[in-house]
Amino acid sequence: MVQSKVGQGSPVGKVNALALRAHRASSYPAFKKQLSHSNCQLCALGSTRQHIVVDRGSPGARLMLIGEAPGRDEDAQGIAFVGRSGRLLDAMLEEAGWNPTSEIIIANVVKCRPPDNRPPQQKEVNECLPFLRKQIELLKPQQIALLGATAVKHLLGDKRPMNQLVGEFLTSESYPDQKFTVLFHPAFILRSPTRRGEMVGWLKNLRRQRTSSR
Ligand code: URA
Repeated sequence: MVQSKVGQGSPVGKVNALALRAHRASSYPAFKKQLSHSNCQLCALGSTRQHIVVDRGSPGARLMLIGEAPGRDEDAQGIAFVGRSGRLLDAMLEEAGWNPTSEIIIANVVKCRPPDNRPPQQKEVNECLPFLRKQIELLKPQQIALLGATAVKHLLGDKRPMNQLVGEFLTSESYPDQKFTVLFHPAFILRSPTRRGEMVGWLKNLRRQRTSSR
């Protein structure tokens, strides 16, 4: 449940009322349009971001990937994972046989860039996570892959180190209809390129799961 602490009569309250309308959208395109055009100010990131970054990819995709937060390039363009991490992610997806344009949709835990690319704070996540929940509800992806520890922590409440989580299939009481798997964040692969083959292997594994569940 999203709660604006700002009175609905104040100018910020009116801005946030527009953002909150996205929660009532009955289609994904309507949700995306309402949120991205809303000038949401539910948390302090609203005053430093350039764009609200909703996603990248195909709303009909079977696989949804969830990262942490937009970076500088994403903030400038209003599209998720278009910087170095995103380019590496696409290359790894393609190597594993996925078409990143038609078979994948990518979103983030928070929709606005945190200053200096710091991890999102709990208050920011609390305000923004209901938008991600709405995305999942409208998209109904068959598979969700959480990219990195921030996504795992905030969606599943699991704080185990990534080495214990990668490749695991997990469920959550908060998302009873979804199966989650955990993958490295592509920024980690940029820093540790020797793990790239392992990541491509997990992406191939996800593709095999997709094929066998048809
Ligand atoms: N890192 C993320 O977690 N998300 C993006 O959109 C870009 C980089």
